[in-house]
Amino acid sequence: MRSLELILRQSAERHKHLCPRQVLGARMSLLAGEMLELELPRLDKRLLVIAETDGCTVDGIIAATGCHVGGRTLRILDFGKVAATFIDTHTEESIRIIPRREARALAADYAPDARNEWEAMLFGYQVMPVSELFSIQRVNLNMPLSKILGRAGMKTVCEICKEEIINGREIVNRGRIFCRACAGDNYFDASVALHVCEDDASYTSMDTPLPLGC
Ligand SMILES: [Zn+2]
Ligand SMILES: [Zn+2]
Repeated sequence: MRSLELILRQSAERHKHLCPRQVLGARMSLLAGEMLELELPRLDKRLLVIAETDGCTVDGIIAATGCHVGGRTLRILDFGKVAATFIDTHTEESIRIIPRREARALAADYAPDARNEWEAMLFGYQVMPVSELFSIQRVNLNMPLSKILGRAGMKTVCEICKEEIINGREIVNRGRIFCRACAGDNYFDASVALHVCEDDASYTSMDTPLPLGC
């Protein structure tokens, strides 16, 4: 296992500086690795992390675990909490870890040289005992792991928008296939389709006549 110092150096490189939440992300990952008896960082897909917020914490998690979004080993479910669940995908054993609210104040006891509260958290979080830093839960996932992971290699097309859907993320209703957006779970309003003009790299509305030579 790499030292916390090395993990934080790698995390800070990605994050451009070191901050307290990266320390939390790194330490919760190391704790989860220990509890699940999984060597970190992972080079395989055995560990799945579901982080409950984006931002600083996640950079600490990535540096410590080797899990990342591109590897499909890290998901963000944005509940706005500095918490994460670590899942051994072989056993489905799942550990959820969240910093204790008291940890922020307790950090100062472990960082006597800190010049302010931020520094106290930055240094204190690195050395505080786990029992003071985190609340830990064993959790059961409320949907099958296979559903969370999706089915790599699957491909289909939405009946409404005709866009391709991968990984088995389609919604099937009475035998009809829809993407999440067309099934009503969308995050944008589609307005005007744009046409890319290769020559001058401009974008033209498909609803207006295309300029000559485009
Ligand atoms: Zn940060
Ligand atoms: Zn669709």
